[in-house]
Amino acid sequence: MTLLQVRDLYKSFGGVRAVDGINFDLHEGELLALIGPNGAGKSTTFNMVGGQLKASGGSIRLLGHELVGRKPRDICRMQVGRTFQIAETFASLSVVENVQMALLSHYNKAFSLFRSARRAYRDEALALLAQVGMEAHAERPCSELAYGDVKRVELAMALANDPKLLLMDEPTAGMGPEERNDLMALTKRLVVERKMAVLFTEHSMDVVFAYADRMIVLARGRLIAEGDGPYIRNHPQVQEVYFGSGKTFENEMPQARVTL
Ligand code: ADP
Ligand code: MG
Repeated sequence: MTLLQVRDLYKSFGGVRAVDGINFDLHEGELLALIGPNGAGKSTTFNMVGGQLKASGGSIRLLGHELVGRKPRDICRMQVGRTFQIAETFASLSVVENVQMALLSHYNKAFSLFRSARRAYRDEALALLAQVGMEAHAERPCSELAYGDVKRVELAMALANDPKLLLMDEPTAGMGPEERNDLMALTKRLVVERKMAVLFTEHSMDVVFAYADRMIVLARGRLIAEGDGPYIRNHPQVQEVYFGSGKTFENEMPQARVTL
């Protein structure tokens, strides 16, 4: 089933065409990577889907409903989740309390009620932590966690919104190879189990090729290729924008990790 339909999406900043008329679909149960060199328009696209930026033209439909023109909060209510950096103030709260906060927000209860809501949604929060393998750490302060575990908590917080679509901006940034693989394997499992879809941007080509079902490649605001790993890997225009002519992912990858 098609979850997201992006059509003729366009964004200019003054004279710069950051996103220059792109089209793509995202299907239920799919992990779609948005890749491309620096300045390609990835973040701009991402932020238009999440509502942080307003499109200059085109449409973004979620199950037929137009997202362009809606505020992030409304888009969030339409079950579009997003992983984000945990704010400093949350570091002193325990893992389970952080997820409870996300649930309070999802159910639209004011944060000021938190004191009286210490027990609110606790069971639900613990169930979400179990889904990301963090239930054993429920009572620890977030500040004590390893980085990979913080990312799992972020994921549980995003799931509190019961997302149909999850937007993950560089989910594995700052992680070692093992943590990366764990997080992406977990994400993949959740996508299948919860029948949701994930749109993610990612620096590591290893992660993209290992986990994305499909990828779309942007360059200077335009979508230059769309397809699965083998197709993208061998796409001449993609190789050109990453490496210039004559080089490929195969002969570049072993020496240096490709950063996008
Ligand atoms: P990416 O995330 O792929 O690196 P961005 O979406 O951040 O690319 O940027 C795409 C283009 O739009 C770049 O040329 C960038 O300089 C420009 N751009 C992005 N955000 C702004 C902004 N807020 N104001 C002006 N120009 C911007
Ligand atoms: Mg960016």
